[in-house]
Amino acid sequence: MQLRLQQRLQERRQQSLYRQRLTLSSPQGAEVQIGTERLLCFCSNDYLGLANHPQVITSLQENAARYGVGSGASHLVVGHSGPHQELEEALAEFTGRPRALLFSSGYMANIGIMAALLKRGDAVFEDRLNHASLLDGGLLSGARLQRFRHNDTDHLKQLLQQRADVEGKLVATDGVFSMDGDSAPLGELATVCAEQGALLVVDDAHGFGVLGANGAGSLEQAGLSAREVPVLMGTLGKALGTGGAFVAGDEDLIEGLIQFARSYIYTTAIPPALVAATLVSLELLTTEAWRRPHLQQLIARFRAGAEQLGLPLMDSQSPIQPLLVGDADAALRLSEKLRSDGVLVSAIRPPTVHAGTARLRITLSAAHNEDQVDRLLDALQRHA
Ligand SMILES: *Cc1c(COP(=O)(O)O)cnc(C)c1O
Repeated sequence: MQLRLQQRLQERRQQSLYRQRLTLSSPQGAEVQIGTERLLCFCSNDYLGLANHPQVITSLQENAARYGVGSGASHLVVGHSGPHQELEEALAEFTGRPRALLFSSGYMANIGIMAALLKRGDAVFEDRLNHASLLDGGLLSGARLQRFRHNDTDHLKQLLQQRADVEGKLVATDGVFSMDGDSAPLGELATVCAEQGALLVVDDAHGFGVLGANGAGSLEQAGLSAREVPVLMGTLGKALGTGGAFVAGDEDLIEGLIQFARSYIYTTAIPPALVAATLVSLELLTTEAWRRPHLQQLIARFRAGAEQLGLPLMDSQSPIQPLLVGDADAALRLSEKLRSDGVLVSAIRPPTVHAGTARLRITLSAAHNEDQVDRLLDALQRHA
């Protein structure tokens, strides 16, 4: 086993696929610090710049003084406190659904949804570019997992028709795809699911807080209700700048998750102070609504500038604006050149993305200003 591990590590290095962590000594923000380097950061998921927001920090501090640090237990034992209850109610109202349930992470929420809803003999259908946690959830559920071509509702329909005899059918998709930045055709997916008797699950990790008139995400933007999309998952560690995740839906869904989702039951609840801080983030979606149009403006500015430079942009209107490079080694080298120019963008390589589609995953945030986006474009002009 140890020998095999050494060989696999060696292989990863040779293929330019070895991963290394950066160690930050600053908060998230338009600029970050790594050792003595100050870098303009274009690779965080802090899309609204709330991870280091003074009001969110104050709430965390005050609530740590009130509730302490650790939650002490799982929700079903004695780890569920006032802030958890309050945030669940606020998220239910914000998403226009009867109830919401907090999970410790998005990864665990997706595993839990699949575990609670599916059983052996069922069929689960997933977009082939879905987030790893949705795919893992499908695999772990015991149901048969089939992947449909990216955003191809005709292909999904074919697969569903072939399994028409199966009683339990679930379709899962990212709302906004994490490595491509494009959106799922949610309206069409909802129609196909209704026709074929399948339950639709949307993971809106990258849409929640960013998209829609009020920031409620991809479903708000697409004008879809809980009837059309019964299961909505959102994460709190991205646009909301804190951590954790939630599932929103009807009474039976939430009670089913509480009873049957092992990744909900057998884990420690998120620290209550962090949950209280998330309540402030959620309020900031309304009280600092300017963050969304500002972000949209930066996205438009980046896309216009990149187009002028002849860069190969992908079909994305989201803050995720990947630059397709192809070769893993080339993506890594480009990332290093940008870093030497003071710009931090990470290279995303297989197996996170398919072979031959390595890319720079550029992300924009409301924490950036126009001048900083121009500096990114200048650096890309010099090196890309
Ligand atoms: C980040 C992400 C997750 C996982 O959420 P965490 O809270 O970070 O575990 C799930 N789905 C998608 C699409 C994501 O981008």
